Amino acid sequence: MSKERSELDLSKLPFMDSNLDLESRVEDLLERLTLREKFLLSAGRRMWYTKPIRRLGIKSFAMHDGPHGVRVDYKGKIQSTYFPSAICRAATWNLELSERFGIAIAQEVRDVGAHMILAPGINIQRTPMCGRTFEYQTEDPYLNKELVVSVVKGIQSQRIAACVKHFICNNQETNRFTVSSEVNERVLQEIYFPAFKAAVQEGDVWSVMSCYNKVNGIYGSEQNYLLREVLMDSWGFRGFVVSDWVATKRTTSTESCINAGLTLEMPSMDKYIPSKMQKAFEENKFTEEVINDNIKRLLRVMFLVGLFDDENTLPQGNRNTVEHQNLAREIAEEGIVLLKNQNKILPLNLERIKKIAIVGPNTNLKTSIGGGSSQNFPPYEITPLEGIKLKSKEKVEIVDSPAEAEVTIIFTGLTHERGMDSEAEDKTSFNLPSDQIRLIDNTIKENPNTVVIIISGSPVSMIEWIDKVPAVIQAWYGGMEAGHAISSVIFGDVNPSGKLPITFPKKLKDSPAHVSERTFPGDKKVFYEEGVFVGYRHFDRKNIEPLFPFGHGLSYTNFTYENLKISNDKVSGDDTFIVSVDVTNSGEFIGAEVVQLYTQDVECSTERPPKELKGFEKVKLEPNEKKTIKFELGKEDLSFFNEEKGKWAVEKGVFNIMIGSSSRDIRLQHQIEYD
Ligand code: BGC
Repeated sequence: MSKERSELDLSKLPFMDSNLDLESRVEDLLERLTLREKFLLSAGRRMWYTKPIRRLGIKSFAMHDGPHGVRVDYKGKIQSTYFPSAICRAATWNLELSERFGIAIAQEVRDVGAHMILAPGINIQRTPMCGRTFEYQTEDPYLNKELVVSVVKGIQSQRIAACVKHFICNNQETNRFTVSSEVNERVLQEIYFPAFKAAVQEGDVWSVMSCYNKVNGIYGSEQNYLLREVLMDSWGFRGFVVSDWVATKRTTSTESCINAGLTLEMPSMDKYIPSKMQKAFEENKFTEEVINDNIKRLLRVMFLVGLFDDENTLPQGNRNTVEHQNLAREIAEEGIVLLKNQNKILPLNLERIKKIAIVGPNTNLKTSIGGGSSQNFPPYEITPLEGIKLKSKEKVEIVDSPAEAEVTIIFTGLTHERGMDSEAEDKTSFNLPSDQIRLIDNTIKENPNTVVIIISGSPVSMIEWIDKVPAVIQAWYGGMEAGHAISSVIFGDVNPSGKLPITFPKKLKDSPAHVSERTFPGDKKVFYEEGVFVGYRHFDRKNIEPLFPFGHGLSYTNFTYENLKISNDKVSGDDTFIVSVDVTNSGEFIGAEVVQLYTQDVECSTERPPKELKGFEKVKLEPNEKKTIKFELGKEDLSFFNEEKGKWAVEKGVFNIMIGSSSRDIRLQHQIEYD
């Protein structure tokens, strides 16, 4: 049969008809596949593709990293927008920005001819020492889930697949290929599952990446419980599971992965080599029904991304546009967190200041190439120094010596190299390098008017110097527009509104995972002994004062909170209730505040966290402007996972409803009774 002839025939087949409903197309194509073709589709071709089945016009499905911009390979010939790291985006607490980010990154994926982005990474930040803290969003399950749903919706609105990763409890890099995360059901349900569950149930995510590590003794790529029972049967996931790259290498067998529901082995390792699959099949180790279900999931996503449709009918891609670069800047600006600002030293007034000293190793740091699989190749990257120079040119003289200047800015932090916020290795130290601490000390002696700006993707110790420094900014890894974003905040064009998505401890020992070697980094096993008391839940429970609490972030203006009202003091059954509060910008700058709602179960048969985030809203206000913020809550916001009953439950009794500007700055509270 000639090529033209076969194409002509294909176009008439039912699965090629884009007017037919999705499931009929999937069924029709599945029926046409031979068993061998199903095996071929189960493992990748080279690093980023599935194998094409030319006979049926099934093109190769292309997937690329990563969470901060599409990176086609490590050669860097194809450039793309480098967005701020996920922790910076999370620090915006702005869901609309996350959705727009999802749309933009998907457009770039489409533009490079691919179909799936290996993002977002949504593992919980269990410890500030995890090498990939920068790549994940937050320590809090509620914030995590709200953010992920926005990103997934944004990405998939462009008919590009999102792939949430790494399912699950991949919370450290030490021994990531072998360690078993030992964690109980309640902790999974309350802390580690919610974002994945919401990605499935609220975001309808099309792909999930299994983790490298074991969970309670079994690898993520062959965990029947995690993949079949929880993800598929309980949550109703309709997409496909892809292994993390080479994650299948250590799994027990071909059939354990197939039976657990792993559709795609990436890249082609060994478990899904067709001859091995055939052998296992002949030995009745799995049924055709199971492989059909696995393959159907991949086909479904192929149709959803338009692999068989006329490209002109699909949302169009674009890349490296000014809009995307502006969005990268907007996220960086909103994600910057003003940690401390004594005597209102910031913002700096360009009309009054004549000389600024700029020092520190991160002054001219570029962060796109670093960090591991999330690294990027942007067409340009504005460093902090470039940003400041562009903003202040002709107005201010930039000098090296703090003693000469009216104000000094020190750029400190990490570099994104291995051991310093990077994949494959946890951080080697919680402290800043000692030469940086010395630099801060010496600079302060020469010039007390010093602002420290930290470029890092995770909390670092500041205890040695924080009291001596009047102003500190956490700038994260701000993407290709980082320098512009930092200068906008320093000089007051942008009023900072970022809030910490992770607790900054005074010392590492204060952190819940750092009790013993068993709890971090473990050896063959790492024990999640802190239970549900991850992040601020632990600091609240143990009454430990953090350096900066979860949800903290200052502004150049002030916000006052008043008039907390709750629609009903008594609720029962499935009743919902409305919490409302008035927030006023009582300062002089236009600004945005993240209004945070926490709940507390005052008395419970099981120990529960003293505070749990259950709502937030970012509100932008002109000076003197007031807005009423409303939250609707219900039973599920008050419930916990009851291990004995094996389900979520709410107990009768009193609950505190707290409204604050951070988890440690509760402005108003009121009690309700659930009965
Ligand atoms: C990482 C994934 C990444 C994959 C492909 C793995 O090492 O854990 O997050 O998507 O490589 O680069």
